[in-house]
Amino acid sequence: MLEGIQSGAQLASWLAQGQALFLSLHVLGVACFAYIVAKRLVPLIRAERDLRFDRPCARLGKVLKFWLGQWKHPRYKTAGTLHILIFAGFVLLAMRAFTVLIVGVSPNFVMPGLSGEAGHFYEVATDYAATVVFLCMVFAIVRRAVFKPARYEVPAKFGKAHKADAIFLLSLIAILMVADSLFEAAKAAAQAQPGHVAFAAALSLPWLLKVWLVSVSLPTLGRLCFAGYLGHEIAFYFLLCYRPFGIQFHVETSLFNVYFSKLDRGKLKPVKWGVSDEHLDQVKSFGVKTFEDFTWKHMLDFYSCADCGRCADNCPANAVGRPLSPRFITIKARDYAFQHYPLFGRSNNSQPLIGSIYSDDEIWSCTTCGACEEECPLLVEYIDKIVDLRRGMVDDGSVPQSLQKPLKALESRGNPYGKMEKKKADWANAKDFQQICRVKTLDKKNGADTLYFVDSITSFDDRMQSIGRATAKILNHLGEKFGILGAAEKDSGHDVRRFGEETLFLALRDHNTDAIKACGVTRIVTADPHAFNALKHDYKDVPPVEHISQVIARGVKSGKIKFRPVENGNDVYTYHDPCYLGRHNRIFDEPRNVLDAIPGLKRVEMTRSRDRSFCCGGGGLMLFYEPKEEQRIGVKRVQMAAEAGANVMVTACPFCMVNIEDAIKVAGLEGKMTAIDLAELVDQQIARDGTVAAKEAAEIPQECVTGR
Ligand code: SF4
Ligand code: SF4
Repeated sequence: MLEGIQSGAQLASWLAQGQALFLSLHVLGVACFAYIVAKRLVPLIRAERDLRFDRPCARLGKVLKFWLGQWKHPRYKTAGTLHILIFAGFVLLAMRAFTVLIVGVSPNFVMPGLSGEAGHFYEVATDYAATVVFLCMVFAIVRRAVFKPARYEVPAKFGKAHKADAIFLLSLIAILMVADSLFEAAKAAAQAQPGHVAFAAALSLPWLLKVWLVSVSLPTLGRLCFAGYLGHEIAFYFLLCYRPFGIQFHVETSLFNVYFSKLDRGKLKPVKWGVSDEHLDQVKSFGVKTFEDFTWKHMLDFYSCADCGRCADNCPANAVGRPLSPRFITIKARDYAFQHYPLFGRSNNSQPLIGSIYSDDEIWSCTTCGACEEECPLLVEYIDKIVDLRRGMVDDGSVPQSLQKPLKALESRGNPYGKMEKKKADWANAKDFQQICRVKTLDKKNGADTLYFVDSITSFDDRMQSIGRATAKILNHLGEKFGILGAAEKDSGHDVRRFGEETLFLALRDHNTDAIKACGVTRIVTADPHAFNALKHDYKDVPPVEHISQVIARGVKSGKIKFRPVENGNDVYTYHDPCYLGRHNRIFDEPRNVLDAIPGLKRVEMTRSRDRSFCCGGGGLMLFYEPKEEQRIGVKRVQMAAEAGANVMVTACPFCMVNIEDAIKVAGLEGKMTAIDLAELVDQQIARDGTVAAKEAAEIPQECVTGR
């Protein structure tokens, strides 16, 4: 039917002959896609509420940065560059793809704004875009099939690999690019005759095909043009309808996933959106027990994951062989959704997730360090889901044996060690320390500007009490009018909450909030990043809180804190970012600035530092839980410090200190490596003599007398 072609000018008539076929394909393709997406939306409609329609400007900002700007992709250089090129190519080609589709039913169609010079530039740009996308696909296929990056492998314990699916989809996109280029090249070859301009950007894929086709007869070009068009349309709609079956669904969902992503770092989702803490007693079931207990946004996360493995690659639990990989928290849930919400037939839902797709060990293995969320280019969330799954297990009374005792102690005594409340301030009241620094216990009558919130581990652990004393001495040195709550302070509840015990957390929070309000302070300081995170994000109506590293950094900047040179100039220091100070609260620079202000201190960075810091093994109740693992997370961390050439690890968290000091012993690095808290180091290095000291002495409040 195409033999009648006599010149390039008759291109439109070639296509017109296929109009009925193309129109049918359009209708069929769009209808199939709409049906599949409608089916995929069913679980989201049945899911729990999630309030994500606030702050549209902030959300649009996230879309511009993380979706359009591909902000996180360069963190992995090869894969990131590849993805940015493919994404940019897709964005450029989107309009061309729609134009080509419309041309099938309206052969003379030109996209508004793309006639004349603008259209010519656009064609040149899209010729190159199609070429780049094609080459990227070939590269990605070879990379996946031949070089097999470890990140994409699937350990047997987590199920089956989706490699074949990934390669099939990459090949389909490559075919789409070839079909598109063939269509353009055949058109250009037919037009490449006197009086016509042949649009094919030099050295692009359409250009190469055009050079090859230029001597081909017009009737054959007609058939090739037709075949290219048909191939493009079939590949386009097949891809569109196939993507919602696997990892490529993120092409459709990622924009929405980024728009609705979490805006408040460090915060946990409430037990139920729209139910206030006061009405929690009316909630029949806490947390996630079945798939339908996830929120619609968390289900959207499952659909949006590209299975790139970056989250798992950075997960400390996964690195030491714990039964947890964040990537498979998602992949298993997505497979479950596809299986239980089929395209045809009835959905089969409401089965318990623990014991079917997840194991309890897997869910308890998470340290809530946030490395997975930090890395995910599509802003998939994990901590809220894992905490929700824990809330479900706690609600069912399924708590690991080793956690039951500390949880009971927290309930009865307000600390996980079961120590008497009256002993809470013993570290500060010890006679020898009182002679150096008197620390006030605050109450209604004894007020101060600043509350030093100590928290359980620093109050009761003999080793960590040294951090408490150092903190008090630093506050003293700075002339702060401060005090502690003593027996009135209970555990901040930070990790109780992250272990899913919401009711206990609320009791601890309410008790502390009343105690803080009663003593009338205007600010809070703590040396414990977990308490810092809780007071900042989990508590309401309490004064602003700072971590001691921020206070010290300000003291150094203002000149109130001056340092003596380090005694051993051969020591090499490295700073370990605690997860709840760094990644969750972005305090990266202050501790480093303080270290760099100490004369003679040599500092190196570990490869994994700042927002890529590697968790020490987890704090809070994680200290009471021993998951199955091949190696301790802390051991891996101290080995990283040794590899960086450091022999002193500085941290700014009592939990990191427990894990690191323990790991130094386990790793056999005793005598070669030591650990010190930033507050301890600062207290040790502060210059307390001469005119500086005299000036400070005059400024120090009467109730906090430092005996220097
Ligand atoms: S929060 Fe940390 S431990 Fe938990 S899954 Fe993510 S990376 Fe792994
Ligand atoms: S959750 Fe994010 S980082 Fe993890 S595999 Fe999926 S897309 Fe990649």
